Amino acid sequence: MLPSYDKELQSHGCKVTPQRSLILDILHESLAHTMTADEIVGLAREQQPNISAGTVYRNLNTLCELGLLKCLDSVGDGRHYELNTGHHHHLVCLGCRQRVAIDFCPMNSEVRDLAEKSGFAVEDHNFEIKGYCTKCRAGAKRSPDTNGGMI
Ligand SMILES: [Zn+2]
Ligand SMILES: [Zn+2]
Repeated sequence: MLPSYDKELQSHGCKVTPQRSLILDILHESLAHTMTADEIVGLAREQQPNISAGTVYRNLNTLCELGLLKCLDSVGDGRHYELNTGHHHHLVCLGCRQRVAIDFCPMNSEVRDLAEKSGFAVEDHNFEIKGYCTKCRAGAKRSPDTNGGMI
């Protein structure tokens, strides 16, 4: 069962359009992973072949502004989107750029206290664990003879 985003949209004074519902559905189904705008366009076209990339991009922006989506762009390969389901952090694969949400936040009261002792009012923080996912690690093990000797 998909939660209804219609009420959510309406409560933000935003019209419910089939495009917006579709984007939210796509991101809901990939809850543990973030997606790039292009991936979302690809999946959206499977359902609505006439949808233009521009329409998807515009709606992604709107949904981010409303706070229904979170936009992440720290990895340097374009923006990633995910449903804003509350606070969490990510494991980021340096090989395939996959991001997986983890239910852990290092921003505990100790860190907060330290910041506050420096007279610092904390507004936001970032925490990412970077490495290689199982798929990429398996690929790296098999490939020394297929990539021209580069490790
Ligand atoms: Zn990977
Ligand atoms: Zn956190």
